[in-house]
Amino acid sequence: MKLKNTIHRAVLWESVLQKKVLCNACSHRCTIAEGHYGICGVRKNHEGILYSTVYEFPIAINVDPIEKKPLFHVLPGSKALSIGTAGCNFTCAFCQNFDISQLRGNAIRGQKTSVRQLLETAITNHCQSIAYTYNEPVVFLEFVLDTATAAHQHGLKNIYVSNGFETAETLKLLEGKIDAMNIDLKAFRDDFYKKLCRGRLRPVLETIKRAYEAGIELEITTLLIPGQNDSDNEIREIARFIASIDREIPWHISRFFPTYRMQSSHPTPVAKMEQAQAIGKQEGLQYVYLGNIPHEQNTSSCPQCGLQLIVRNAYQVSQNILELGKCPRCGYRIKGIFKT
Ligand code: SF4
Repeated sequence: MKLKNTIHRAVLWESVLQKKVLCNACSHRCTIAEGHYGICGVRKNHEGILYSTVYEFPIAINVDPIEKKPLFHVLPGSKALSIGTAGCNFTCAFCQNFDISQLRGNAIRGQKTSVRQLLETAITNHCQSIAYTYNEPVVFLEFVLDTATAAHQHGLKNIYVSNGFETAETLKLLEGKIDAMNIDLKAFRDDFYKKLCRGRLRPVLETIKRAYEAGIELEITTLLIPGQNDSDNEIREIARFIASIDREIPWHISRFFPTYRMQSSHPTPVAKMEQAQAIGKQEGLQYVYLGNIPHEQNTSSCPQCGLQLIVRNAYQVSQNILELGKCPRCGYRIKGIFKT
């Protein structure tokens, strides 16, 4: 097997007939023949055993503002050491990181980096969290679990940025290790997921509910793509779904720009973004933020008294008057994580 130095026995799989294995990490539940990879292209059946080929092998490591994940209600103004590997269980036609997420099998690249080295990098750069991001972290689940355990031992939080296609078994493993998640709710139509992502809607909705019930701090992101998921009806359905779980879950509406296999589409009009934000608020969501628009300024106001609490210019926090997570005027507790 190639990449011997990176292989690591996977979690959440079982043997099936003729040396095949069944991977239960994500809702594809791939049955993988000996010598082959799952759909994500980085989990390989070698002689009847499932391995991760990207364990301690990140392809991207950056120190980012946590607002860039995006997470607006988790340690505002702090830095997150952000890591991702090759591979993904989705094949989104609009992926902004397709150059790494769509690498498969022998095309995998990266830099051997131990969990310990990552922790040292995070601490040296004054990061308060580690973010598993860029590609879908379930495909490097074992690396996430070990890094997250070590991060907690050093007082750091763990951030998981996901397409939400995890199984219930994976969510169980993440409970207690992951402090906050941003889950993409890319659309409210199964067709969209099938046609553009090689995914399905229902498992994503289930993951969102499970993560919330597990007490993981949750924010949702929707990339609004002209002509694909931007009808008022669909925007309203997404907002209603989020509000049905908790009106205080932050919702990030992100502006689309042509990329990857959607080069001929147009950027989302700013007026459409503002209209979507208005729909989110009409449906009762307390925090609806816009991303990727010029001169964006996103403010979090107290849902009870309306006082402006946190003001952000793009990814920079220019004001934060929260006191221990509460509004200083009326004492209302703002949903989120505001201390390490
Ligand atoms: S994580 Fe990869 S191998 Fe496992 S079920 Fe998902 S796509 Fe298949």
